[in-house]
Amino acid sequence: MPATPHLIPSLVQGAASAIQTHAEEVTALDRAIGDGDHVLNLQRGLDALAKQAESISALDWPAALQKIGMTLMSSVGGASGSLYGTLFIAMGKALKDREMNRPNLAEAFAQGVEAMKARGKADLGEKTMLDVLIPVADALRSAVERSLSVPQWVDEVSRAAEAGMESTRDMIATKGRASFLGERAIGHVDAGARSSQLMISAIAEVLAAKSR
Ligand code: ADP
Ligand code: MG
Repeated sequence: MPATPHLIPSLVQGAASAIQTHAEEVTALDRAIGDGDHVLNLQRGLDALAKQAESISALDWPAALQKIGMTLMSSVGGASGSLYGTLFIAMGKALKDREMNRPNLAEAFAQGVEAMKARGKADLGEKTMLDVLIPVADALRSAVERSLSVPQWVDEVSRAAEAGMESTRDMIATKGRASFLGERAIGHVDAGARSSQLMISAIAEVLAAKSR
């Protein structure tokens, strides 16, 4: 894991193209149980990040993550904007005066997810992107404990994200717009869970490719 964030432009690009490729599918999910704007919200954020990616990659990791969080907060809108903003700002704080390596990344990601839980007053099992992010945080920690190789690490993280995304299908939503639908939300994957899974898998792939 590099000490400087020079990978940020390719990570943003990877996340953006994953969302682009699945834009119709994710929009259909958000139309089914939300208001249909989730992809547009994310794309605004990813465009804003792409424009700043070069300058962000000149910062150190804590400052870069902080800047990513602030950019997402001001550009994404929707529930997901402030939640993703909170995640990255908390990750930046957690990495302050720390080296960027896999144990510290796992720890920072877990703290970011905790901050998001607090911000949205939500937890596992409420049919949101937290059903992806919490298992991914656990998978990152577990991969560190078992000293997995990068390809194994990527594989486990991607599989945890997919299982988490799938788990939202049969849930009733208790947070966000889908909560107004009660049992009618059952049978639909949560759009935010699907988009976060797509972005996490894409980011993991870029990291794996760069470490080869
Ligand atoms: P909005 O719901 O305001 O239109 P988006 O469409 O951008 O915002 O994002 C919706 C997604 O945000 C949902 O699919 C869900 O995954 C996520 N979400 C909503 N509320 C919460 C919450 N309290 N905690 C975590 N994620 C949430
Ligand atoms: Mg929406």
